[in-house]
Amino acid sequence: MEQGRLFIISGPSGSGKDTVLKTYFDRHSDYEFSVSTITRPKRDKSDEQKYNFTSRENFLRLIEEDKLLEYAEYCGNFYGTPREPVEKWISEGKDVFVEVETVGAAKIKAKMPEAVSIFILPPSLSVLKKRLSGRATETAEQLEKRLKKAADEMKRSVDYDYIVINDRLEEAADCFERIILADRQRTERNKNFINEVLENA
Ligand code: ADP
Ligand code: 5GP
Repeated sequence: MEQGRLFIISGPSGSGKDTVLKTYFDRHSDYEFSVSTITRPKRDKSDEQKYNFTSRENFLRLIEEDKLLEYAEYCGNFYGTPREPVEKWISEGKDVFVEVETVGAAKIKAKMPEAVSIFILPPSLSVLKKRLSGRATETAEQLEKRLKKAADEMKRSVDYDYIVINDRLEEAADCFERIILADRQRTERNKNFINEVLENA
């Protein structure tokens, strides 16, 4: 069986990663999403689909036991990708999505250069600020921290394979979908099919 593909999704807080991914997930069912383990307090109910919440102490144990594919500290909390499910899904030939900040993304790319990285950019910093404050999930202090981080994170967008500018959602979602679908047609992902056709020639 062909190996699946790991898609790394990054972008500053408020750029629309969740929103663009959700649009893709609404249109497709043949994918897996990696649920991260994190130490940040729960924000709202929708957080439960995206994260497993744990203590700092337990997180440090996961690092020690090499249970994480990558991890990073972001605004004072730990975020990590459990290794085992991601490796299993890839070996089963599935498309797997991980949503990680830029340090974690670089760690994954170093280990798995074949992973495809996509950076979601807001159309401008002022729009980012408006969207993030409009989401109303952070305190004023947390919002300030996240916005301060955003410019540095956006500088890292040049390291990614693709960028998607999230101005009008429908266009960004289409653009994102085209990247994923085009990747499925890469020759390296279809070698078994080519061989099967040739065997029957
Ligand atoms: P992230 O996951 O990157 O932190 P979200 O997906 O939560 O960002 O988006 C931040 C806020 O911006 C949300 O309130 C979301 O509804 C809104 N948003 C996302 N994309 C767009 C868009 N293209 N146009 C207008 N608002 C958007
Ligand atoms: P939030 O607190 O807004 O949910 O997430 C903060 C940042 O952490 C976002 O950039 C998000 O993509 C990133 N993140 C979420 N899960 C992980 C993870 O497992 N590993 C890393 N490195 N970053 C993550």
